This record gives sequence, structure tokens and C-alpha cells, in this order.
Amino acid sequence: MKLHWKIIIGLVLGIVYGVVAATYGWGGFTSDWIAPFGIVFINLLKLIAIPLVISSLVTGVASLSDLKKLSRIGGKTIAIYVTTTAVAVTIGLVVVNTLRPGDRVPVEMQQQLQETYEQDVENREEAAEGVKDRGPLQPVVDMVPSNFFGAASNNRNMLQVVFVAIFIGVGLIQVPKEKADAVLSVFDGFNHVIIRMVDVIMLMAPLGVFSLISNTITTVAQDNISQVVELLGALGFYCIAVISGLLIHMVVTYTSVLKIFSSMPLGNFYRGIAPAQLVAFSTSSSGATLPVTMERCEEKLGVSEEVSSFVLPLGATINMDGTALYQEVAAVFIAQTLGMELGIAAQLTIVLTAVLASIGTAAVPGAGVIMLVIILEAIGVPSAGIALILGVDRILDMLRTVTNVTGDASVAVSVASTENQLGEVNLDEASDKARASAD
Ligand code: ASP
Repeated sequence: MKLHWKIIIGLVLGIVYGVVAATYGWGGFTSDWIAPFGIVFINLLKLIAIPLVISSLVTGVASLSDLKKLSRIGGKTIAIYVTTTAVAVTIGLVVVNTLRPGDRVPVEMQQQLQETYEQDVENREEAAEGVKDRGPLQPVVDMVPSNFFGAASNNRNMLQVVFVAIFIGVGLIQVPKEKADAVLSVFDGFNHVIIRMVDVIMLMAPLGVFSLISNTITTVAQDNISQVVELLGALGFYCIAVISGLLIHMVVTYTSVLKIFSSMPLGNFYRGIAPAQLVAFSTSSSGATLPVTMERCEEKLGVSEEVSSFVLPLGATINMDGTALYQEVAAVFIAQTLGMELGIAAQLTIVLTAVLASIGTAAVPGAGVIMLVIILEAIGVPSAGIALILGVDRILDMLRTVTNVTGDASVAVSVASTENQLGEVNLDEASDKARASAD
């Protein structure tokens, strides 16, 4: 059976179990006996993310014949990333202004939400405070670590690790071949080992996904599933606005990107990337999903290591189309609910800040809502308004993370194709074993 089917079965069983557990109040049992498998699964993925990025990026950069190629690939990647994010925000803008979900929230529900999430709002506001105090060039400073081991000790420092790995790769190009070869073969060998480790970890994916989903459901429902149903009813139009925006973006924008830059059939693309999308859905973290995205793009979709090792870690950190779209819809929704009409200037400010905020959003669950606080403050909407959307945020987080990961993968395929570095698509799972022994 194909891996994605096994994961889908884990997902469906997890949803069924989660709903039953939330209905019968098995939250405690679930968090004690089921959730740990999900945590182990996420930890395994996070464990190999930094070693994978270092080994594949060093080998990737060192195999470039000249540095001009690196800047060309970099330029293209960033241009497509920023353009697709701007398109995503624009889609969000149109959808939220057309559906006007904020006009449909009952007043009693508004008050209830504000009261329930008061404390949560404070936590998010504090987190946003830390981000806001930074100077305009702080992201550049943040990219250059003063200690390599310090950088590699936290998955949040992915951009620093990317910087160091590129730097080592650049150094390797410039030393005599016989010196470079010894170092390179270590990184190259290491890289093969880690890709194999991803295959091993993915054997656990169906169980990991089952556990993550069921635990998410019981945590969100807090042993009271009817509360979630009620919340979804009140915020239904808001959810529909975000979800339809994400769908339009996936169907229209990514299809166009793939069609314009590559000749890969859509079916192949989605079949290849499906396990990464399912892991993104259940972990809500593009950072944790990164090893799977890289493995699928390289081994299944034929993206060269040179391109994938550069485009994907960068994408996981700065390219968040789903998050940008959601931030746009959420900001306008909150303003609409609070009865504040946003003029064209405020709407344009949201577009711009949402593109920037999504770039600054960490690739972890719930990070998007922290940056939303900053957007709201930029347009003068009280940030306490996020109380209105926190109840359904986890569900939307899962979906926007899928969009983020799909965006990264479609850009990796496109860039590889324009660089003539897109090999054969290989969707045969059995070939994994054959390849492993050949390696
Ligand atoms: N969870 C998202 C991601 O990791 C970020 C967010 O929008 O909260 O891609």
C-alpha cells in the first residue's frame, strides 16, 4: 500500500477516535497514552532537520561549478516566493471583502469569545511585543550567527544554519579539489544516511499522525465536543473564507506556477508530495515537515539535491503563503466584527504587512497568530480582537501549513525545472528499498 494511503488511514482513525474520546471525556487517557507517540514522531523529524539541511546544502553548494549559479537560483527562488505570497494575500483580500464573514457573528457570541480567550490574548500580545521591538535590519543580523553550535542547537535558527552551510559550501569550492573531496565525501555520505533515516521515520507516520490528530481534537474540545461544534457554527463563515482562499490559491496559483515553469503533470506532483502534506496537516509545522518535504521532492519528484537543499529550507522559513492569506482574512474579519470599516489605505497596509509578517512567522504551530497581533496594531484594530478567532485557530493552522508546504514544493519543482535539474518522477515506493541497497 502506498505511504500516503497508510497515513490517510491513520488520519481518519485518529479523527474518529478523537471525536469519540472528546465525547466520552477520555482526554486524560489520550494525553497519557496516545499523545506521546505523536511527540516522538515530531521529535524524530525535528531531530534530523538541522543535520539534513547542513549535509545536503553543503554538498549542494559545493557541487555548483560557479557561484553565479547560486545567486541565480537564489534570485529566482526569492522572486517566486514573494510573488506567490503577494498573490495569496490578494486572494485573501478579495475573498474576505466578498464574503464579509465579520458581519455574521452574533453579538452574544462575540462577547463570550472575548471573555473566554482573554488570557490567551495576553500571552500572544506578550510574544508579539518581543518581535515588535526589533529594528528594521534585525532579520539580517539574525541570519548571521556568532557561534555555529549555538545556531545548530535550535531548530528555530534554520536561516542561520542555511547561512553557515552555504558559507561552508562556498569555502569548499575555493580550496584545491583533493582537500575539498575528503570533506565533501563526509557530508555526502552523511546526507545519504539521513535521507534513509527519513524513510525509517516515515514508517511511523501513520501512528504518529493518528496520535497527533486525536490529541489535537481532545485538546481543542476539552472533553466537550459540542462547544467546538458551536464555535464552528458561529465562526463558520470566517472558516469558509480562509479555507476557500487557501483552496483557490492551491488550485489556481500553484497550478499556474507548475504549468508556467515546469511540465510536471499535476497528478504526479500531488502524488509525490501527499505524505508531506499529510504530515504538515497533522503537525501544523512546516519546520517539522521539512525533512519529509525534502525527501519527497528529491526522491520522488526528481528535484536535484542542489536545488531542493537550498529552496526548501529557505521556503520553510520565509515562504508562508497560507499564513499570509490567513492573516489577511483574519485581520479584516476582526475589523468587520468589531464594526470598524477599513478604508483602502488600511487594506493596503494589511497586504504589505501580511507579506512581511508571513516571512517573519516561525515554522511552528500557532506562530501565524502572533504575527497577526502586529498586523492589527499597524491598522489600529485592537489586538484583543484575536480572541474572536483563537477557538478555531488550530484547525485553520493545519490547513495553512499544508498550503505553506505545498508552495515550497511547487517552487522547488519550478526552479529545478528552469535550471534543467528536474530528473525523472519516481512514485514507486518499492524502489526505496532497491535504492537503499544500491546506495
Ligand atoms: N504553523 C504554520 C507553519 O508552520 C505557521 C503558522 O501560520 O502558524 O507553517
